[in-house]
This record gives sequence, C-alpha cells and structure tokens, in this order.
Amino acid sequence: MARRMLVAGNWKMHGLGADLGEVTMISMAAEKNRRVDTALCMPATLLHRAAAAAPGFDIGGQDVHPEKGGAHTGEISVDMIKDAGGALTIVGHSERREACGQSDGDIAARAAAALSGGLHVILCVGESLDVREAGNAVERVTSQLKASLPADPDPNRLAIAYEPIWAIGTGKVAGPEEIGEMHSALRGALSESLGAECADKVRILYGGSVNGDNAETIFAVDNVDGALVGGASLSAAKFVPIIEAAS
Ligand code: PEP
Repeated sequence: MARRMLVAGNWKMHGLGADLGEVTMISMAAEKNRRVDTALCMPATLLHRAAAAAPGFDIGGQDVHPEKGGAHTGEISVDMIKDAGGALTIVGHSERREACGQSDGDIAARAAAALSGGLHVILCVGESLDVREAGNAVERVTSQLKASLPADPDPNRLAIAYEPIWAIGTGKVAGPEEIGEMHSALRGALSESLGAECADKVRILYGGSVNGDNAETIFAVDNVDGALVGGASLSAAKFVPIIEAAS
C-alpha cells in the first residue's frame, strides 16, 4: 500500500522566539511540497507562537501526559497542546524514556491519551549500541513496540519512529540494510498486534542523524515512510532538503 511520507522535526530543548522565522520558512517550503506531510515538534514555550507563525502547518509537542490535568509538575496535557494550536505529539523518545524513567506501559498510556484526544502521535522505539552489538536489536525493538502500542489505535493518526539510540545526534546513521531489516520487522510486529490491514496504514519513520545528504538513500528503503529529524530540523536550510528528498 502507498503511504504518504511524513517528515517531522524535533526541536528538543532548542529555540527561542527569535528562531520562529525558521518555522515560517519551513512551513512555506512544506506548502510547495504538498505530497509530503510535514510537522515540527516544538518545546512547550514555542508551541503557541510556532502555530501562529505557520498557519496551516502542523506543530506538535515532544511528549504528553496521560491524564487530563493535575499535580504533574513539568508535564503537558493533550488539551494544552491542542489549546496552543498543536496537532500532534511525540511519545516514547529515548531521551524521555531515559531521563524520566518512562516504561513501555507509560508510553502506551501517553499514546492512548493523545489519540483519544484527537492528536496524531509519533511513537519512538530504538535500541542501544550494546543491544545492537549483541545481535538483539530486532528482538528488543519489536518487543518494545508491542509493549508501547496503545489498544486499537487509529492507524491514520499513528506513526512509529525507529530511532537507534546510537544514531541520535551522533552523525552515525544506520545502514540501509539495518534500516530495511528493522522496518520490515516492525511492520510484522504491527501486523501481529493490530492485524495486517491496520498495520499497513501505520507509517514507520526512521530517525537518527538524518540530513539532506543521506535522506534520499534512507527514503528509498522498503517500509521507510519518512523521518523524524532532530538537529537538521532547526533551520530551513537543513530541513527543507530532507522534505524535498521525500517528495
Ligand atoms: C531525534 O532526536 O529524534 C533525532 C533523530 O535526532 P538527530 O536527527 O539529531 O539524530
């Protein structure tokens, strides 16, 4: 089945008001590449202003709490993201899994809350270098995915991002064979959990040091339906070539 490509940026803890011109420029380039879905996941302080700086362009959060509200210092709710103009959120990024001790079950709850609240979700999975070198990457990441999936997700609003931890922000990119093997295994795991028809609609993104030079090779791999991009999403000069490579 032909799935639309999705290229999403993750600004992490980067960006001030002065950087919003980049969001506007990226949104204008996205407008010219309508065959590709494009989004930027912003720090909470910029969500509202980024949505205002790029009308019609998808802005998202970088995590979301499963509860509607309450005593959860430092967290953000589904309604807060929507109220700020957000349309999506990342869940399960390895930096959040590690820094906040989030379990697969926590991530499934976050994804479920976001989907039932109407957001699109990018759910991240990926292995450490130790796991990769021990030859257990496929087994570890497929079981991580199965344990992190919410029940009965809307496949049109769920994307999976395979992000090998050793490739994030390091300049090391997984090779096309490694990516192809993992994405095909993830498609299989989705099929076992959700049924083949549903699994076929879920986009599987690759993330880890994607840039304008390597994007085309990565996008040519079977079952790669786009990318989740960190460092190279911070400027239009670096992000737009990735969007163009997907279109
Ligand atoms: C990320 O943090 O999701 C990521 C893929 O980062 P980078 O592109 O900088 O490796």
